[in-house]
Amino acid sequence: MNDLAAMDISDAEPLTLHQRDRFPDDLLDVPARDLWRHLPGPTLFRIEGREQSPLFVTVLLHGNEDTGWEAVQAVLKRHRGKPLLRRMLLFVGNIAAARAGVRTLHSQVDYNRAWPGTLHPAAAEADLMARLVDIVSAARPFASIDIHNNTGLNPHYACVNRRDEPFLHLARLFSRTVVYFDKPIGVQSAAMARVCPAVTVECGRAGATAGTAHAAEFVEAALAMSHFPDHKVPDHDIDLMQTLAIVKVPPEATFSFDGSSADFRFRGDLDHLNFAELKPGTVIGHLGRGMNERLAVVPGGCSDDVATYFTYDGGEIRLAVPAIPSMLTLDANAVRLDCLGYMMHRIGRDGKRLPD
Ligand SMILES: [Zn+2]
Repeated sequence: MNDLAAMDISDAEPLTLHQRDRFPDDLLDVPARDLWRHLPGPTLFRIEGREQSPLFVTVLLHGNEDTGWEAVQAVLKRHRGKPLLRRMLLFVGNIAAARAGVRTLHSQVDYNRAWPGTLHPAAAEADLMARLVDIVSAARPFASIDIHNNTGLNPHYACVNRRDEPFLHLARLFSRTVVYFDKPIGVQSAAMARVCPAVTVECGRAGATAGTAHAAEFVEAALAMSHFPDHKVPDHDIDLMQTLAIVKVPPEATFSFDGSSADFRFRGDLDHLNFAELKPGTVIGHLGRGMNERLAVVPGGCSDDVATYFTYDGGEIRLAVPAIPSMLTLDANAVRLDCLGYMMHRIGRDGKRLPD
């Protein structure tokens, strides 16, 4: 990551929402990193289709997560010269960060923390997302899909901010693993949930062709859907989980994954724990010499009541409660910019926690 270059790009680019009434064929083969050569900044494309109520798709809200962009290119290539089954409103987000190959530039508010409900309402990014939501809402969208990658070892899964049946049907089109979450706030799927069924999909690591194929298939399936089914998604057809805590490394603390000296020495295979049902006592790492640092555990749900998630006896960092982690990562940038990972529990359709 070249921080100086990143700052220069951002400073040169005022934050305007660009709009295009068609999707030019010459973008069909442009990699995310080169989009800045073709587009002046964040751009909303209106793409024609038979059904008028559009599918809203957002890609590259995080600049180094290019699976969504590649998936949309694949879908549009397949339909080249013929209309989509349904209109699409396609928002291509953080082109400046994509150029730098980073999630978010230092000078920016994260493009997936700046949507209505954000902690940063005065930011230029928040203004842009608010205008975008107004434009998309006026088009009465059928559904909304936001496509992401993550850095750790994770299965593909869908995330929702509401548990209403249309949301679960949409999520289930992508994966049987569905994560319900309230935090972080200011995310696309929470803002769009007020307008139409909305999901965020996590497609594993960027650059994996399986993620691109899966995301493209999902977008195609959503475009082909004429309406949401009246029946319930069967209970046995869905693994519903809720994020209850976000685990962060305090900004002043150091950390390592290779056993080298640091305030937190996490195990080197930390991301292999993702989506495993962990028992209390599971070791996730060791404290450094001072042994006085503690992980910051932020409640992920509406309630501020976070159980004591970790114990630190003898300098061993152990899980204190049963939990299913997600997005645990060995990527130091992701840890600094976002978090170490999330802690989840299984829930029922009513949102109540299931026995561990
Ligand atoms: Zn992301």
